[in-house]
Amino acid sequence: MLRIGHGFDVHRFAEGRRCVLGGVEVPYELGLLGHSDADVVTHALMDAILGTLRAGDIGQLFPDDDPAFEGADSLVLLSRVMDVVRSRGARVLDCDCTIAAQAPKLAPYREQMRERLAGAMGLPVGSVGMKATTTEGLGFVGRKEGIAAWAVVLLDDGAPGDGRCSGR
Ligand code: MG
Repeated sequence: MLRIGHGFDVHRFAEGRRCVLGGVEVPYELGLLGHSDADVVTHALMDAILGTLRAGDIGQLFPDDDPAFEGADSLVLLSRVMDVVRSRGARVLDCDCTIAAQAPKLAPYREQMRERLAGAMGLPVGSVGMKATTTEGLGFVGRKEGIAAWAVVLLDDGAPGDGRCSGR
């Protein structure tokens, strides 16, 4: 049966940090603050995957007070989420992400992000959508205080059915 999941995340900019998005380090004067590498789009994607499985969220799976995840490479965490998918006999079919950033310019890195995320998920690049937008100067994104990201995921949960949800 098909399941959908949605994820959302925000990280603020800070000095002395890297700006990692979709597993790609994007050159910028500021980086994203967080316990892990603060890869906001990969975090949104992981939450969307966990949403399809009704398996909680990344805060439960990778607690931000656990030293094991300090500075963690979010692509490694993503591959661990995919282990959860496989352990349930499920399969991610497709995903699509949107990043809202006033800066830096992300278009030059979009294809690389798709490749990195697809690689971490074991999917063809064609199964990973990636879009970037500004917010026309509005809100915290527009003031360049941070970056927001959203993701949706379509997953086959491996259970036979007619497409209607049945409780998991
Ligand atoms: Mg996060």
